[in-house]
Amino acid sequence: MRESPSTNESPSTNESPSTNESPSTNESPGANSRPGTTASARIKVLNGAFDPLSFDEVIEACINLIRAGDRGYLCTVNVAILMMMKDDPELQAFIDGARLIVADGEPIVWLSRALKTPLPERVTGVDLIEGLVERAADEDMSVYFLGAAPGVAAQVAERFQRAHPRLRIAGTSDGYFSEDQAPERVAQVRESGASMLFVAMGVPRQERFMKIHWTDLGAPFAMPVGGSFDVLAGLKQRAPRFVQRVGMEWMYRLAQEPQRLWKRYLVTNTQFIADAAPELLRQLRKP
Ligand code: UDP
Repeated sequence: MRESPSTNESPSTNESPSTNESPSTNESPGANSRPGTTASARIKVLNGAFDPLSFDEVIEACINLIRAGDRGYLCTVNVAILMMMKDDPELQAFIDGARLIVADGEPIVWLSRALKTPLPERVTGVDLIEGLVERAADEDMSVYFLGAAPGVAAQVAERFQRAHPRLRIAGTSDGYFSEDQAPERVAQVRESGASMLFVAMGVPRQERFMKIHWTDLGAPFAMPVGGSFDVLAGLKQRAPRFVQRVGMEWMYRLAQEPQRLWKRYLVTNTQFIADAAPELLRQLRKP
């Protein structure tokens, strides 16, 4: 299941966004390496390819990328996103083109283990934001929060500013704007000089936005983070750790927004099981 980085993650082979610059393109020599990582082969789990890195290693890789004057984005993939990728080639290509891809779902980690190509651990988007912001404060790297309803990104920024007084907030902005307004928002991010950009506009809207505007956004490091700002601002509850550990966080989210999410989870969870079953059987039959 291990794949060589040159097979499915070579930045140069990825579909380019609207400009000539691939989102994962390293603008310095050595474009195929992933600074701060061991450049290890990605692990394939169904239609996703994941970097076999622990939480701490991911944080280190992101910081090293920025320090090296490089550019790239990180994607966190849970079961729902993994299944959405299958039906959305643009989303699949964008995620495959990320500098770092991590599994934000216990079932993906379990499946990787059952298939004998284990991922070290689940790495969640919310935890990564917290870890990266903490490091940004230590490293004097500024952060930009873009997305969610008006005022939410500012609440997240205030929360982090209180926790880390030295943190430099480059800017905040909500995620409700038209295509016509996008260039202005993008310019605000670029002109802020942010080192880290977190984009919380839901999948696949945020990925599409990042793909189209990647060059103009300018930030060396960016990460699409779904509904994380709502959680960090305290508007939505995160599942308790034990619920997360048993792979049931989706149920917790479902209970909070049943009308919007039931179909998504029914479809994607069923699809995941249907896709995983033949892989598991093949593994079991191996001598
Ligand atoms: N959102 C946004 N712009 C939009 C639609 C949604 O900024 O045009 C925000 C929304 O307020 C929420 C976040 O996107 O904070 C994520 O929404 P959702 O829960 O759908 O994301 P998912 O976790 O499903 O990717």
